[in-house]
Amino acid sequence: MTHPGQLLKQAGLYAGKELGQNFLSDPNTARMIVEKTGVSADTRVLEIGPGLGALTLPLAKKACHVTAVEKDGRLIPILRQIINDEGLDNIDIIHQDILKVPLSEMARDKKLVIIGNLPYNISSQILFKLVEERKYIEKAFLMFQKELATRILSPPGGRDYSRLSAVSQYAAKISFVAEIGPSSFFPSPEVNSTILQFRFIPPEEFDAHQERLLFDVIKVAFSKRRKSLKNSMIGGEPGYEKQFVLEALASAGIDAQRRAETLSVEEFKALTRALEKTGG
Ligand code: SAM
Repeated sequence: MTHPGQLLKQAGLYAGKELGQNFLSDPNTARMIVEKTGVSADTRVLEIGPGLGALTLPLAKKACHVTAVEKDGRLIPILRQIINDEGLDNIDIIHQDILKVPLSEMARDKKLVIIGNLPYNISSQILFKLVEERKYIEKAFLMFQKELATRILSPPGGRDYSRLSAVSQYAAKISFVAEIGPSSFFPSPEVNSTILQFRFIPPEEFDAHQERLLFDVIKVAFSKRRKSLKNSMIGGEPGYEKQFVLEALASAGIDAQRRAETLSVEEFKALTRALEKTGG
């Protein structure tokens, strides 16, 4: 693997902060990550942000096919050249913003395994997108800044529990895979990174409409996280009508003085069902 600093220099390019470009520069770390994903000859991979191919190449050597979606058009000719030099013919590179690509177009007849050393500035948005389109995904291995990964894994009750924790814990079984230090990247970030595995759970109890309501309830409840549910959920924009919220909280057995950060996913689900009944 040629060092990303050298590849960029040869092409007269620089790593763009606005695109979260911290490229993996340690081939052993890249190999370890690919090993942990367990991809095999029948796996269809979607890689988010292939960059200069640190994960793309070892993935393509193990998987049946890799689709790699990269926003930065400057990197694509370099990536194509590297792929050519390796003689790999099972990689499609798509020059696009991952947030604008419908996963339905990629999954075809087989669910995807998604892998990404994510651009840190949009990792939460990417995770929300994957949750919404999870019927096309078998599992995902995603690298985040350690602090964000801690929030995603955080149980209710603590200050790290957030909208992203509740939504992702509702939609997936999440587990820790590995922690990676700054020296494995170029340029080196200031913080550690964490890889999490998501095994997405299809919505069993909720239909699409109820799920939208659930996500909206979670969003509104966390919109003023220091306030009680009574104050965060009522009135204003966003917000629900007072009578509906109070009735729904009572019928779900949730004290209106509690804050969003104390509610379990099960309680958010109960509140959603109750709100649906009250017509809120
Ligand atoms: N996978 C490479 C690696 O591990 O070395 C690069 C990882 S780097 C942290 C993030 C990559 O995502 C960069 O190549 C960046 O250009 C790309 N990227 C940033 N925003 C993107 C977006 N909205 N859609 C697709 N790719 C994006």
